[in-house]
Amino acid sequence: MRSRYSAFALGLTDYLLATWHPSTRPAQLPADDATEWKRLEVLDSGEEGDRGRVHFRATFREGGRWALLEEHSRFVHEDGQWWYLDGDSAVHRLKPGRNAPCPCGSGRKFKACCGPV
Ligand SMILES: [Zn+2]
Repeated sequence: MRSRYSAFALGLTDYLLATWHPSTRPAQLPADDATEWKRLEVLDSGEEGDRGRVHFRATFREGGRWALLEEHSRFVHEDGQWWYLDGDSAVHRLKPGRNAPCPCGSGRKFKACCGPV
């Protein structure tokens, strides 16, 4: 399941569709070149029988704007692999201050990392 989020960050939409359960899979995903995925945190995950879940936060930048996607995803194990079913997600706008920790997770100040020059 974790591999799916690495793919997400890299924009590998073909892989995402291949691991998306046929019952909920969209016909296609829009190409999204404007979104730069900066950070992924898996907060919690678990399996119970053939059901799996992942709670994650992904930080991204679109142009000069930062935001956080938080999702509780559901998975099902079928035919020897985990399939993404669906999830409850919310997007929050981030407004990092110049001296705040950089939202990319580097541990440096925003102004000294990804912040505006
Ligand atoms: Zn940074």
